[in-house]
Amino acid sequence: MPDEFRKHAHELVEWMADYMENVESFPVKSSVVPGDIFSKIPDSPPANSESFNSLMKDIDEIIMPGITHWQSPNFFAYFPANTSPPSILAEMLIATLGSQCMIWETSPAAAELEEKMMIWLRDLIGLPSGFEGVIQDTASAATLAAIITAREKITNFSINSEGAEHAGTLKVYCSDHTHSSVEKAVKICGIGRKNLVKISVKEDFSMDPEKLKEAIIHDKERGHIPCCVVATIGTTGTTAVDPLRAIGEICRENGIWLHVDAAMAGTALILPEFQWMLDGREYIDSFVFNPHKWMFTNFDCSAYFVKDVGALIKTFEVLPEYLKTRTRGKVNDYRDWGVPLGRRFRALKLWSVIRSYGTEGLREKIRYHISIAARLSEMISKETDFEILAPVIISVVCFRYVPAGYSNDQINALNEKLIHQLNDSGRLYLSHMVLNGKYTLRMVTAQTNVTLEHVEKAWDLIKKTARNLNF
Ligand SMILES: *Cc1c(COP(=O)(O)O)cnc(C)c1O
Repeated sequence: MPDEFRKHAHELVEWMADYMENVESFPVKSSVVPGDIFSKIPDSPPANSESFNSLMKDIDEIIMPGITHWQSPNFFAYFPANTSPPSILAEMLIATLGSQCMIWETSPAAAELEEKMMIWLRDLIGLPSGFEGVIQDTASAATLAAIITAREKITNFSINSEGAEHAGTLKVYCSDHTHSSVEKAVKICGIGRKNLVKISVKEDFSMDPEKLKEAIIHDKERGHIPCCVVATIGTTGTTAVDPLRAIGEICRENGIWLHVDAAMAGTALILPEFQWMLDGREYIDSFVFNPHKWMFTNFDCSAYFVKDVGALIKTFEVLPEYLKTRTRGKVNDYRDWGVPLGRRFRALKLWSVIRSYGTEGLREKIRYHISIAARLSEMISKETDFEILAPVIISVVCFRYVPAGYSNDQINALNEKLIHQLNDSGRLYLSHMVLNGKYTLRMVTAQTNVTLEHVEKAWDLIKKTARNLNF
């Protein structure tokens, strides 16, 4: 068995390195239609053993055509889900060890490395030293943990034990541009979607703190209980930055939990010139960012930090007989720091990535990505038939094609046609959103290996395709 494993593993490493080398030769966005892949997989599993080679043959022939290439430097859609060689190597180790890192005893090294990595990250992004961190699978899970903890803290931990029946109406606040994970969390934690209050944004798409204050006063007058505000550093649409200090002061005055979602932009906090985004940090109760987006650590790895770790643990801890240990209370048992019991050894990926790049190497890469976005925004601004639709803060540029003489509806239709034509070309992949009724193309220059040349080529293609659209 080990011999056969060794042989296939060596072959696989060749496949992996070839893929990394040739990723640009694939169409970025898969062009399969629904059912294409499903219909090629046998209706029932094989009764007898098949070789790894036959699996690899199917990977090449059946699976690869159905892959959208997130690791292509021409992937400009959504937010990135970056990998990097040191992260992939660590993932191989993680799979080999196959550790379950639910409590300290089941993997002491994993628990202690995780504790140290969270200190490294906390200090790198400039969160105060009182914060403690834990790796979650996703920002969605971290935000759910934050809102549940806020719910318990404000109700004196009574919903956990008694149910929601007598707790009153809790309210959660976020902006119109907050990620949908907040709505999901509010739905599933029993607060209810109708008690999520969406605060309108200012011209730059950041939350208007005056409107937040009004909403809280309004709710309190009606006997409702403001429980949590979610502020975003780097919204998903435009990377707008909600004003933490102003929001934090309101939270402090009203005894409200302040959760900060910095899933993408949190990585930019490693740059001194972006520390302004964290002004008001002393008001934060919890904070999440995703090394699995922009810190070259492959999915999944989301860093969640809390100021009052006691409240987090009190919210999530359970103690069945089979998980009682002699070390309890002296070590971090991370199963009590979030929803899942079982946990992968994700700290190893972070350790490998941070050591391989070094903090200066990480800073250099992030700065480069940000500089490419600024450059793209300059190039777009120069063209009279294109316009920028949101301030360019980190690595996201929102724009549209606006040839003269068309109505807004026609312009919207034109841009929708444009993005489909571009994405169908296989040469790049963009995503879109709607800003103030305008269909907006969104280009993210943050893939691990993206360069200015990729962006210049993409921009040429966008211009050419737009100007050749027949309408
Ligand atoms: C991507 C993103 C999320 C969701 O991240 P997951 O880790 O996939 O749950 C949440 N908030 C913001 C601002 C995001 O950009």
